[in-house]
Amino acid sequence: MGLIERVCEAGIVGAGGAGFPTHIKLDAKAEYLIANGAECEPLLRSDRRIMESRAADIVRAMRAVAEHTGSSKLVIATKSHYGAAVAALQKAAAGTGVSLHLMKSTYPSGDEQTLVYDITGRVVPTGGLPLDVGAVVSNVATLVNIADAIDGKPVTTKVITVSGAVKNPVTVEVPIGTPVGALVEAAGGLETGNAMDYEIIIGGPLMGFLARGLDEPVTKTTGGILPLPKGHKMLGYKHVNMEKQAKLAKAVCCQCSMCTQICPRAALGLGVSPHKAMRALSSERGKLLGNVNSLFSCCDCGICTYYACNFGLNPSVVMGTFKKALMGQGVKPKKETVGRVDPGISNKKIPVARLLSRLSLAKYDRDAPLVPFVTQVKEVCIPLKMHIGAPCKPVVEKGVPVRAGTVIGTPQGLGAAVHASISGVVAEVSGEYIAIRA
Ligand code: SF4
Ligand code: SF4
Repeated sequence: MGLIERVCEAGIVGAGGAGFPTHIKLDAKAEYLIANGAECEPLLRSDRRIMESRAADIVRAMRAVAEHTGSSKLVIATKSHYGAAVAALQKAAAGTGVSLHLMKSTYPSGDEQTLVYDITGRVVPTGGLPLDVGAVVSNVATLVNIADAIDGKPVTTKVITVSGAVKNPVTVEVPIGTPVGALVEAAGGLETGNAMDYEIIIGGPLMGFLARGLDEPVTKTTGGILPLPKGHKMLGYKHVNMEKQAKLAKAVCCQCSMCTQICPRAALGLGVSPHKAMRALSSERGKLLGNVNSLFSCCDCGICTYYACNFGLNPSVVMGTFKKALMGQGVKPKKETVGRVDPGISNKKIPVARLLSRLSLAKYDRDAPLVPFVTQVKEVCIPLKMHIGAPCKPVVEKGVPVRAGTVIGTPQGLGAAVHASISGVVAEVSGEYIAIRA
């Protein structure tokens, strides 16, 4: 069986992004193969721990992928202060043709377009992919899944950092479908008080979203679990009311354009202009958006909201809302690069320490060692949609016994297979998930 078939059978999707099926992404030819170990989001440690513990598998997977993609330049991008991870990668890469690209601790260093520009000097156009400029980018967690697929193991677990307002931040490898409550327990529980006093961000603090509750399951793309006390500044940003945003844009936005000046995608010459989105929202005149196509280049990094705007406005959510509305109307991005790379681009990177301090998150910037996950999970709830595209079709029925690794859902068109993450009995099958009781 070839690499692409193995990756497809293993149900691998991009572990650090929107869940694009990896077997489709890798079925290409590209000069560069870039392993993304930049760990974009502050507070998360999962990629760092993966690089420390599985450096040899990352290099092995890169070589296997490069053989398929014909890549001659194999680069692992990570942060220079990730001492143990850098040492492990250097040791594993020695004599293999894989090189390291070491970066400062800035945000958003793991943004795919930013990373491609930093390494190749080429700009991925709006509406395009890294492949358009001769690059394939894969997260280090995805590469570890590829190494496992080569060994015949499907994706059944996820390495996740549990940080924020917990007693002992940890990084753990858990079965897909584990409820987030079990992960909070694995981190020694909440700092003080009870669950009613907290809300949980799934993912990183900047691009993550609010969990519906402690039952929310871990998916193939979950990178972090961050409980924060109610009333924390970050949570305020996550509770978005567009009507209120429109009123604030009208009353407060002074069109200073700081949000655009600091936007990493604008710095790449992609014409992203959040201040124009605010202008269009406050005046209710779509024409004031300027280049509408550039909205598609917004990567939702949140820098315009969390760092640039001195008035606490939320241009990133406005950009996201406009982008979704366009897609909802069937508008497709067209490939274009409208401007030139800002000569001061390297000065526009935001130091993570300063960002954390602004967001009142500095106290949560703690180590999160990789520890065994010892909690007995009685039931997992495995979503049938953990990828871009339609949900998988269930191929098991309620009451049927399954073993960890059994295929329980197959893709319908674009997608990736879903496997049982624990051995047990199928407790429930719906259009959205399959529950398995241990
Ligand atoms: S949203 Fe904030 S940063 Fe952007 S133009 Fe308005 S006031 Fe300035
Ligand atoms: S979220 Fe804001 S800063 Fe980030 S890419 Fe979009 S517009 Fe630019």
